[in-house]
Amino acid sequence: MLDQFPDSLHPDRLMTHMRALCQDIGPRPSTSPQERQAAEYVERTLRQLGIADVQEQPFKSQASFGWIVIPATAAGVLAMPIAWLGGQWGKLVGSLLLLGGACIVRSAMLVRTPFFQRLIARGNSQNVIVQIPPTGQALRRVFLVGHLDTQKQRFLMPPPRPETSKPINTLALLAAALGGISLLADVLLNRRRIAWWQGVLGAGLVPSLAALLFDETQPHIEGANDNATAVSILLGVVEALKAQPLQHTEVTLLFTGCEEVGCVGMESYLERFAPPKENTYWIDLEMVGTGNLCYVTRHQLLERIFSRFREGGVGGARRSPTPGIGRCGQRYVDLGRSG
Ligand SMILES: [Zn+2]
Repeated sequence: MLDQFPDSLHPDRLMTHMRALCQDIGPRPSTSPQERQAAEYVERTLRQLGIADVQEQPFKSQASFGWIVIPATAAGVLAMPIAWLGGQWGKLVGSLLLLGGACIVRSAMLVRTPFFQRLIARGNSQNVIVQIPPTGQALRRVFLVGHLDTQKQRFLMPPPRPETSKPINTLALLAAALGGISLLADVLLNRRRIAWWQGVLGAGLVPSLAALLFDETQPHIEGANDNATAVSILLGVVEALKAQPLQHTEVTLLFTGCEEVGCVGMESYLERFAPPKENTYWIDLEMVGTGNLCYVTRHQLLERIFSRFREGGVGGARRSPTPGIGRCGQRYVDLGRSG
């Protein structure tokens, strides 16, 4: 079956893109000149394939996920000292800092845009968009997505033992919320003292802040599997589709910027273009080449983004009729046959 591979998807061809992205350009931090160079490389490659209509969508973004979670956690750390020193007003402020900080961190985990987004979105980034129209009438549209930027060499995301992530994060959020509610109760009941366990709750946030700050000092990675492999494959797919377009499926290839700092590129695309949700399918390529071919049809983070757009009536992705997670043994998908 290997001889049926389109030439553009042969490993040697894909490795050319990989070398250009990971070696020639190197680490591609969100909003950086290197991320921009990756976008330019993709645009240049697409134009060399004879695709004239390559769109670039500029947008503003924060340079790191830390710009959201570090201020929120720092607010939580400051809450108890302020409550201790500031009397009843201090307790009120401390309560707001803890509850507000917990809400912001929870929202960040669900990839919701923070209310101070405009303040932190100081960098320039871009999506690269190309559409391959079908030969006949378009009955459906498929979006193939791969991000251009790379993440820092973080220890917290994912943690060494990923299964501990959810309970630890939940516990930290509950502790902050409990601290905030208890301070508010103190104000309402006119209790003056800070209980010892309130101090423990506040102190518990200090290691979290230290870990987040340490993570922030780490260098960015070259991102071979996250996500140059996906970008390379998408470039190979464009070439294959250009030579042999599908019959009834319009394919949009979306090379997004700033995925690693909260899917900002994808959010910007959905806001600006609001694709219809009927007969629209999304395939996001991530970590290609790290092992078995896996797929998820329901992902909490993306689910949140899309459900927000659904609620807002702007458009979004169609829910899969069979949400789940699985592993696929097939070595490749024959685009020609899928129509
Ligand atoms: Zn990724």
